Amino acid sequence: MDFRLTQEQEMIVDTTRTFTERELIPHEEQVEREGQVSPDLVKQIKQRSIDAGLYACNMPTELGGGGLNSFDTTLVDREFGVTSYALHYVVARPSNILRACKDQQVAEYLIPTITGERVECLAMSEPDAGSDVRGMKCTATQDGKDWIINGTKHFISHADMADYVILFAASGEEKTSKGIKKKITGFLVDFETKGCERIKGYNCVSNNGYHNMIINFDNCRVPGANVLGELHNGFDAANEWLGATRLQVAAVCVGRARRALKLAVEWAATREQFGQQIGKFQGVSFKLADMQIQLDAAELLTLRAAFNDAAGNFSDTEVAMAKVFSSEMCQFVTDEAIQIFGGMGLMDELPLERMWRDTRVDRIWDGTSEIQRHIISRALLRPHGG
Ligand SMILES: Cc1cc2nc3c(=O)[nH]c(=O)nc-3n(C[C@H](O)[C@H](O)[C@H](O)COP(=O)(O)OP(=O)(O)OC[C@H]3O[C@@H](n4cnc5c(N)ncnc54)[C@H](O)[C@@H]3O)c2cc1C
Repeated sequence: MDFRLTQEQEMIVDTTRTFTERELIPHEEQVEREGQVSPDLVKQIKQRSIDAGLYACNMPTELGGGGLNSFDTTLVDREFGVTSYALHYVVARPSNILRACKDQQVAEYLIPTITGERVECLAMSEPDAGSDVRGMKCTATQDGKDWIINGTKHFISHADMADYVILFAASGEEKTSKGIKKKITGFLVDFETKGCERIKGYNCVSNNGYHNMIINFDNCRVPGANVLGELHNGFDAANEWLGATRLQVAAVCVGRARRALKLAVEWAATREQFGQQIGKFQGVSFKLADMQIQLDAAELLTLRAAFNDAAGNFSDTEVAMAKVFSSEMCQFVTDEAIQIFGGMGLMDELPLERMWRDTRVDRIWDGTSEIQRHIISRALLRPHGG
């Protein structure tokens, strides 16, 4: 495994870093204050990221995307991670699931999402089905060539900015040796469809300005042509997405922790108490050492998972390790950085308290830390009949 960057990859990192410094970081305070990225700012970031070639960088070049593989997109996410997710989300990374689009779906959904004319969100979670996604109650019932959707999804990120949803619903049941199992199918549903209603979601401690919504489906009729991927095999498509988003979480955490550590080192080297730099007290300097060790370990796990994925050897265990370790590392690093700053660390004059809040959700969304550990331990025990 060789993580040395090619010249092209160095350029990708430089472009993303410069873009983040010029186009995103200057708006952090405003987004925190207003609790939203204003529509004008969304427009500006979107256009400038399209101009910089960063928009939809994960999508194939022949369809208008940036053509980056998962290692390269991990480098991009690591750079974006230093700033608020509410801001860098706008530089959209269309869901990998959309690669399953076929026939007219390509022209109607995939290509306009790559060009930025349309925005998607993804709805899997329900009030009674979080980690246990297969326990979902939202149903899709066939009616002639159409499907009728009923149920509720919640926690749906950026549904307020999207104009369609990639929806997962229970489309049937099958008998297995372990009992009755729900069959899950993916659908592309326009928000303007009758019977599909978005309502305000919950206020979240993390990522101020990045909103979630509740989506209700009440006899919502969806044409059969809008089935995404294979009928009853929605989990295959969903796994594509989950692998990519878990890697994204890991890379963002590495970027965010890098910034927190940099701030903490600068402060430890300049703040004086008892007549000397606080960094000269072992109680502070050893914190810095531990933060660096954790950060590097998280980064290596993340790059390994991305490297192998890019080489065609995707491993859900490696991705789970990267996600769980990086998100817990980032919580540790941002927390220790605040401790090193003392009282000022908790004040909103500095970005640290935001980063500390923002990273809390990383241990929950896209599969909790417990679910990641379940994936890792299951792989260890499976050969032993576990
Ligand atoms: C801000 C935010 C945005 C989100 N955006 C989206 C989105 O866009 N689309 C979407 O579909 N979902 C989204 N989610 C949902 C997210 O993926 C779920 O919150 C997550 O999967 C956990 O589900 P839950 O919250 O229902 O917790 P639960 O599944 O109820 O879990 C509660 C606790 O039990 C533990 N637990 C559950 N099962 C096990 C087990 N087998 N072993 C050990 N421990 C277990 C969990 O780890 C957790 O600690 C979002 C969530 C948040 C908070």
